[in-house]
Amino acid sequence: MSKKNELIQAVEAAGLYVYPKSVDEAEGTVAAIVRKGIDKCLAVAGDKACCFTGEEAGGVKYCPLSTENAKALMALFPYTKPVSHRGHPFTIGLGDRLGLATPGHVRAIAGYGAFPILAQQSIRELNLTSRTFADVIAAAAFGVFQEGYKDGYGADGDHLKTKPEITYALESGCTMITLDCSEHIDIKAAALSPEAAEAAYAEVPEEVRKHYEETYLNKELPCIGKLDLPELRSIVLVFWKAIVHAEDCFRHIEATRTTDVDFELSIDETLTITSPAEHFVVVNELYAKGVKIDSVAPHFSGAFEKGVEYAGNLNDFARDFVVHQEIADHFGYKLSVHSGSDKFSVFSTVGRVTQGHVHVKTAGTNWLEAVAVVAEHDPDLYRRTHKFALEHRPEAEKYYHVTTKVDEIPNIDLESDAYLPEYLHLVASRQTLHITYGLLLAEPWFKEAFYKLLAEKEEEYYARLVSHIGKHLRFLTAEIKK
Ligand code: ZN
Repeated sequence: MSKKNELIQAVEAAGLYVYPKSVDEAEGTVAAIVRKGIDKCLAVAGDKACCFTGEEAGGVKYCPLSTENAKALMALFPYTKPVSHRGHPFTIGLGDRLGLATPGHVRAIAGYGAFPILAQQSIRELNLTSRTFADVIAAAAFGVFQEGYKDGYGADGDHLKTKPEITYALESGCTMITLDCSEHIDIKAAALSPEAAEAAYAEVPEEVRKHYEETYLNKELPCIGKLDLPELRSIVLVFWKAIVHAEDCFRHIEATRTTDVDFELSIDETLTITSPAEHFVVVNELYAKGVKIDSVAPHFSGAFEKGVEYAGNLNDFARDFVVHQEIADHFGYKLSVHSGSDKFSVFSTVGRVTQGHVHVKTAGTNWLEAVAVVAEHDPDLYRRTHKFALEHRPEAEKYYHVTTKVDEIPNIDLESDAYLPEYLHLVASRQTLHITYGLLLAEPWFKEAFYKLLAEKEEEYYARLVSHIGKHLRFLTAEIKK
């Protein structure tokens, strides 16, 4: 009998379920994801079983899905380890706040030619869910192993702001760094009166002003044409410190990384729209300093609020997006669209203009699909969850900018159980549930019942992700010329 069959037989004899696609063999060792009741673990037998921590029974070692065992798994089966996405034109960020979504995500991307960033969390998300980067990567590694998915995935330290955060992400195994420069972008400077802008500009070190004026003033620039002094002054005031910071962080990544790491520059989390001229100058400065960029996330026109459709003028969006794409093509990186969950109305433009050379980030939408499972199967838990989310929404609004109002949500005490799944389709309740995930997951009553239900309805959760993420991919790829 083969080693694989021996393992399957031993595990099944012990009354456990074996995830059939997970069974794999390397270096005289067989491993599989197995499940007893609602608890999963890794079953290992053979030469390298000693590298894993767990309890032996009947010749099989049963190992918890810990970060240590994830490291041992990545060493034994290298396809479970995150890698750089360079060379893959179409990449999609699929942050998984629960650590449960990866099997659904890898099923969802099948057939679309998208390289997934299955581990993708910001420091804010880690804090709100009490997880570490190592936890997030371990969940993705076990998820790809469960599915027998071998085509590679990335791990994005998303919206990192400082060098210590970058160090933390890289040491945990992240293969992509998204640098959020927002704290060094002086957004107020864009709104100054001409006199105030002139005065503020005079405070900028002389050599800095001289450099920008010599490089950009009244020159015919690629993609954006000419800049006059007021325009250039505004760009310098708003961005010059962010450019210094970005270069500094890039050097830090180069000095710290032990493998290929993708570098994304994010200027999206500012209150103002990024103009093509701003985009061009920022990147041109960084390229002149030798900084290599894999993707840039400008703040596009219109509102990209979490978990709901795009709000804004689609013609304005398309007009700017074309110029941003020209800039990206000029330098040779891809645009990155953040808060991409559920922005179906812009996806055909994004796909058509980029011709599938783009990065799109989705995050909390897989959390909402999980809440939909609750609404479908456990009305009492959903009602309690819903009321808690409404009550605590003001706390969550400190982290997330949203514009829907709670009085747009029908009173749940007046609605039947059959109505409950509708709350996931109503923009105001959808958004309320979207932003309160951290507060809910910090509640033991919620967390325990929620994870138990999702374990019981595992396949249904995956099917929901295939349908919902699949819809994103269908729109994004619909107008790519074959
Ligand atoms: Zn962002």
